[in-house]
Amino acid sequence: MSGSLVGLERDALEELSKASSRDALQQARARYLGRKGEVAGLLKGLGALSPEERKGAGEAINSLKTRLEEAFDRALEELDEKDKKHKIESERIDVTLPGRYLHPGRLHPVTQVLHEIEEIFLSIGFDVAEGPEVELDYYNFEALNFPKDHPARDMQDTFFVSEEVMLRTHTSPVQIRVMEARRPPLRVIAPGTVYRRDSDITHSPMFHQIEGFMVDRNVTFAELKAVLTIFLEKLFGKTGVRFRPSFFPFVEPGAEVDIRCVMCCGAGCRVCKGTGWLEILGAGMIHPNVLRSVKYDPEEYSGFAFGMGIERIAMLKFGIDDLRLLFENDLRFLKQF
Ligand SMILES: [Zn+2]
Repeated sequence: MSGSLVGLERDALEELSKASSRDALQQARARYLGRKGEVAGLLKGLGALSPEERKGAGEAINSLKTRLEEAFDRALEELDEKDKKHKIESERIDVTLPGRYLHPGRLHPVTQVLHEIEEIFLSIGFDVAEGPEVELDYYNFEALNFPKDHPARDMQDTFFVSEEVMLRTHTSPVQIRVMEARRPPLRVIAPGTVYRRDSDITHSPMFHQIEGFMVDRNVTFAELKAVLTIFLEKLFGKTGVRFRPSFFPFVEPGAEVDIRCVMCCGAGCRVCKGTGWLEILGAGMIHPNVLRSVKYDPEEYSGFAFGMGIERIAMLKFGIDDLRLLFENDLRFLKQF
């Protein structure tokens, strides 16, 4: 009897030492200490012994049972300890490792310049309006004093949807839409996308314009000059500004506005074609016919309007020499801004 107890204990401890998981340990425990396990079997066998033998054997089996239970509990604790240690080691964070760089998005140079222009006009009391990109002939041409068959329509290579519907060729139709909906005094800018059949290093079939206008009683060319000079000096810094007579059907008189070349400061270079001046925007006093088309009395109200290409301004501000770069979505280019 005592010999078999020693063998049983040795076997059990050996199995314990080999068990490398909680499952294996629980299985071994069940095999030795379970209700139908080896120790239970020994206790059951006590009935076959004489009363004298039974007492000693019972004590021996029970003390074996206690030792084995303790051994299993210890093994279980050790295993837990080992797991915990492993977990701590495997999850250790090396704070000296370099971090991962997150590439932040940024605004497109055209959007940056557009925001800058909007900020300037908002700061001098203008508000922002928008209009549809697919426009009716009436708003794109007719109400802006481009009568049908008027040669001025040829100045703008138009994408037609149908005879009466087109992609707007300028942001000027927003002038008409705003004036129809509101009454003076008006100080409004209207930025947006416009379309023309044109594509080379300085022209894109889709580009951005910003239109602006001010209508009230007694608005004169002096206000036009003041507002545009303030605007251009805020955008490009203190630089020369000049106004040249020009023609647009929706203004009278019309002007083209130049700034002193930002590349050569007026000395003459390739960008300004040796003239020392850069054409920046078109402007003029709103034509009486345009005011009449929105039912404003030209005897009572007057106003000025101006328009400019945003890409051109972005190119001058950032020194970009090919307009197409702005629309190729090459990250190596865009990341520079
Ligand atoms: Zn120049």
